[in-house]
Amino acid sequence: MTLPAAASFIQQRGPRVLTVGTMKRPVVELSDCTRCEVCVEACPAVFRMNEAGFIEVADLSAYPEDEVNEAIKNCPEDCIHWEED
Ligand code: SF4
Repeated sequence: MTLPAAASFIQQRGPRVLTVGTMKRPVVELSDCTRCEVCVEACPAVFRMNEAGFIEVADLSAYPEDEVNEAIKNCPEDCIHWEED
């Protein structure tokens, strides 16, 4: 599809067709987590220890990929991974 044709297609279909790609979100497998808080140190904007003593992932519209990858790399239990919606 040429660029003008794509623009015309988008105009015809409305702005929803501009929503492409997927949302990546980090997930912690709590059953494997030893609560060492390495992830909290690596990426406090995303990971935190909640009042119950479990790691929580902040509900963000976008996640800092480099920092989350740093947490994933350093998690001693290898229990953080990305999920895509
Ligand atoms: S680094 Fe891994 S094992 Fe440690 S608290 Fe975070 S998720 Fe749990």
